[in-house]
Amino acid sequence: MNRVIPLQSAAAACDSQDRAILKERGQREVFCGLTGIIWLHRKIQDAFFLVVGSRTCAHLVQSAAGVMIFAEPRFATAIIDDHDLAGLADANEELDRVVDQLLTRRPDIKMLFLVGSCPSEVIKLDLSRAAERLSKTYTPRVRILNYSGSGIETTFTQGEDACLAALAKEIPRHAQDHPAQREVDLLIVGCLADVVEDQFSRIFNELGIESYAFFPPRRSGDIPCLGPNTRYLLVQPFLTETARVLDDMGAKRIPAPFPLGVEGTEGWFAAAAKAFGIDPNHVEKVIAPKRQRANLALERQRQVLNGRSIFFFPDSQLEIPLARFLHRELGMQLTEIGMPYIHRQHLAEELALLPAEVSLSEGQDVEKQLDRCRNYRPDMVVCGLGLANPLEAEGMTTKWSIELVFTPIQGFDQAADLAELFARPLVRRTKFAA
Ligand code: SF4
Repeated sequence: MNRVIPLQSAAAACDSQDRAILKERGQREVFCGLTGIIWLHRKIQDAFFLVVGSRTCAHLVQSAAGVMIFAEPRFATAIIDDHDLAGLADANEELDRVVDQLLTRRPDIKMLFLVGSCPSEVIKLDLSRAAERLSKTYTPRVRILNYSGSGIETTFTQGEDACLAALAKEIPRHAQDHPAQREVDLLIVGCLADVVEDQFSRIFNELGIESYAFFPPRRSGDIPCLGPNTRYLLVQPFLTETARVLDDMGAKRIPAPFPLGVEGTEGWFAAAAKAFGIDPNHVEKVIAPKRQRANLALERQRQVLNGRSIFFFPDSQLEIPLARFLHRELGMQLTEIGMPYIHRQHLAEELALLPAEVSLSEGQDVEKQLDRCRNYRPDMVVCGLGLANPLEAEGMTTKWSIELVFTPIQGFDQAADLAELFARPLVRRTKFAA
């Protein structure tokens, strides 16, 4: 018979407001928000991302994209060179010329994002004005928006938040004024792999929630309309700005844990069902077989992960929901969970599920945090690429957090794949050691 690790009782956890969080401000080791272009350009299939940045920015985006050969790429960098930085050229004229060339050559582009960077911010190039100016020429053929992916203030997942916040401002309200757009009761907010979106659609339909849309849409023309009672459900814990825009537009957030692992996914769907008054017995009927199948699929990884300790450096902003999953469903021991930024309201349901004694930290002072990590000597460290190699050299087993945003990990059917991402490095190290 399969051994199932019982879920820890929520009574052992503590309220999110009571938790002490170590706040650190110092040197950080994170990628910038440009990285988000890699998954955003796959999601919005007729959008183009034009980074207005330096050669460093171009290298970052290209190397994050890996070795890809595109017939028609959907991102590029307009290079700001020394000439522009010295104020010797009119960067706005240059930008208009590049955009004109691009849109003339690529009629398939329906939405263009001008993406700011550290260099564009240093020379104070106002990309919101540029987007407004260019929109006058290209609307309605192409919508032109802007956001910042600069590394000065952000961690890499905040690039998605900034992009979706810009896009959220485009959501119309009241279908009668926008007959081409569909008014929805539920907006599911955050990038999901298409395969996960399809699974989630089937579950929403089974639950009886039919008026919903995913945001961002796969095609830029499919942006839905907000009605007077539209509610939204976040799929990612890093969408602070996007949520603020939606709140300002009158949409109501459904408080929920995030759909990572079996428990998180169940809680996420149950929260949506409750908000729409769906009978809990019906919810149980829909969810029970999925829960059972997903729990069985986790058994192999439980054998590997149970009792092993884990330390999270702040990077992807997924750290708290991941830690909750690894602890409660797979029996891992939590040491410190670091997160670049902790939004207590959006994470309230998650924080309530964590054990009271776990250390939480927000922000980073990397040297101090490395010392704490060495003291714990955990079985696994989740961190960015910059820390992984040195820690491996010290004999620690690491997991690159960036891999978690490139992989479909949400939902019942992906729970075992998510667990496998953590089990694999431990199994590999055991094999090396043998
Ligand atoms: S936006 Fe800033 S941090 Fe990101 S690649 Fe460009 S220069 Fe580097």
